[in-house]
Amino acid sequence: MEFSSKLLENAVYEISQLPGIGKRTALRLALHLLKQPKDQTTALSTSLLKLREEIKFCSNCHNISDVALCEICANPKRDESLVCVVEDIRDVMAIENTGQYRGLYHVLGGRISPMEGVGPQNLTINSLVNKSKEGIIKELIFALSSTMEGDTTNFYIYKQIESLDLKTSTIARGIAVGDELEYADEVTLGRSILNRVPFENSLKL
Ligand SMILES: [Zn+2]
Repeated sequence: MEFSSKLLENAVYEISQLPGIGKRTALRLALHLLKQPKDQTTALSTSLLKLREEIKFCSNCHNISDVALCEICANPKRDESLVCVVEDIRDVMAIENTGQYRGLYHVLGGRISPMEGVGPQNLTINSLVNKSKEGIIKELIFALSSTMEGDTTNFYIYKQIESLDLKTSTIARGIAVGDELEYADEVTLGRSILNRVPFENSLKL
């Protein structure tokens, strides 16, 4: 792609670094911004900068939050004895949208994937295990995507907490194998949390 402007070329390059955005789309977006009032570009740049500089993670569940303890963890009406283990904030949002769940969450920050160089130490598994030892949590619900990486992560955590006096369950597989949680419809996802099954049942022993 030949550019008549180095400024445009740089902007297109940066935009095209985003997932799913090719050079052509990046060029279309850059030209779109140029046609809009300058305020829009300023607002976009400022919000991204602020996101990076000011973002916090909840000290209890590791969800993205604007404050030290997120709204869900700080809500006294939520059941702190019930913790749903998910990969990231998108899963929290999907489950919250069902309106069926009143417990807390634990956000792992991904799943174990040797192929992508993600090991247990790159996730918030230690924090979950330590939290589980405190005795407040009575049940962990594994709600990771039903992929090989998701299953590996579930099993790894299960092994760490197996000896504790803790119920473990997994969301009912109304969610198709390989499906990401965020793509499940609200009714299916809501039902799969209510109809969760003991984690041991999901293991092929
Ligand atoms: Zn929280």
